[in-house]
Amino acid sequence: MHRFSTLSVFCLLPLLSACAPAGRPVRPRPAHAPSIDTLTLRAHTFFLAHDLLRGRATGSHGAAVAANYIVSECRRLGLEPVGGSFMHAVPLELSVPVAGGTALTVFAPNGDSARFTLQRDFVPTGGTRASLRGFAGQLVWVGGADEIRERPEALPTLSGAVAVTAGAVRRPAAEILARHGAVGMVHLIADTGTYRLHTASRGRDFLVLTDTTVRSSFFPPIPAVIAGPQLSRALVAAARRGGTVRVTLDLERRPVHAANIACLLPGADERLGDTALVFTAHYDHLGIGTPDERSDSIYNGFSDNAAGVAMLLAIAEEVRNTPERALRHSVLFLFFTGEERGLLGSDYFVARPPVPLSRMRALINLDAGAPPARPWHWRVAGGTGNPLGALAKDVAASHGWSVTTSPATANSDYYPFAQEGVASVFIIPRLPYQGLSADSSQALQRRWDRYHQAADEFYEEFPFAGLQRYAEFAYLLALAVDRNPGRIE
Ligand SMILES: [Zn+2]
Repeated sequence: MHRFSTLSVFCLLPLLSACAPAGRPVRPRPAHAPSIDTLTLRAHTFFLAHDLLRGRATGSHGAAVAANYIVSECRRLGLEPVGGSFMHAVPLELSVPVAGGTALTVFAPNGDSARFTLQRDFVPTGGTRASLRGFAGQLVWVGGADEIRERPEALPTLSGAVAVTAGAVRRPAAEILARHGAVGMVHLIADTGTYRLHTASRGRDFLVLTDTTVRSSFFPPIPAVIAGPQLSRALVAAARRGGTVRVTLDLERRPVHAANIACLLPGADERLGDTALVFTAHYDHLGIGTPDERSDSIYNGFSDNAAGVAMLLAIAEEVRNTPERALRHSVLFLFFTGEERGLLGSDYFVARPPVPLSRMRALINLDAGAPPARPWHWRVAGGTGNPLGALAKDVAASHGWSVTTSPATANSDYYPFAQEGVASVFIIPRLPYQGLSADSSQALQRRWDRYHQAADEFYEEFPFAGLQRYAEFAYLLALAVDRNPGRIE
């Protein structure tokens, strides 16, 4: 069977100009379509996902180099600083649990107790400065996130109790538990492999915003720990018998310097130029982590989210260099830090905006990975019940593409803005890709999807046509808002 699952075959397809090796001119495109340059996307992702930047962890040297690169590119494109600066500091603090003073103890009603160890048995889930702390209370079983959300009225009394949940529970289920009086949560993970994934992805330290007045749109309002298999068994037994739990957290703290970046292209129209169309992408990634089977410990974040940054810069270049497509609105390009650590940069930006949020007409977030072929089906998260979602459907239809919408969730940086009432969407490419069967599309995605793995890095043979299409759709949507501002009110 002939499948387009290998690149050699893939690159024979004459339409995929992204396969052209660096240095060869890009194929000209019809005048009506924006011409996002694949060589530009290639160059930006090559730099940002390079091992020298060591995975761009928030607050790291590599992230600072990435930030300087982005500012340098904004300057080259003639974009302007916002509120006097391209960089906007995000005050953070690194909190590292100290093993000796950090423990979890389970008490039976008769006073018997068992003490459990950080990492081996449990890990804190992270949180804000207010919620990253110890807690204690009676263990009360509440079930999984779905049950909590669907039948909150069936919850037992939780006043002063610690809610025991099946699996990890995030907002909004955690908010329901907090409203019912729970003072903390323990999330049971019965399977060793799943527990390892949780511990590996959470790391051994936590970043929190030092400004406690900033509301987190990501972390639950109460403290929580993830419990491994052995502890999970002990907690189930103790909860059944009316036992209690005590978690003590001893944290070593040090300040971390990180920054969001804001670059502005003033609008052509005096009246509309007062209002901005906003493109957002986070530039941080996971940094150095657990080595994979190739002994690679650098989590480069090519598709997550060097690709998003590259698309924003390529869109900026396209808007800047194509006077006939000049936008009447101003265009604001925002590059966030701290996304991987729980939307820290975007939460802070929304709380302390250098531009009033009321002046943002629409926001388009790019952070869904780099599609390895041209998408023509899209999910627009945040587009449900939002005029921007309806407009995205029309834009897609006019190109023979399709859009489904879904409500906004805390899965990327558009969410804090959506919460504050800014028309905000997150464009997500869907399968199958244009001209490919469902099977071929899946095979291609399996080959290239390395979400949160060390292997998510720059490959010369990666086909950039999909990323080009992704950026084009974002640009076309912004253009549609610019031409029909009345539709986004
Ligand atoms: Zn991401």
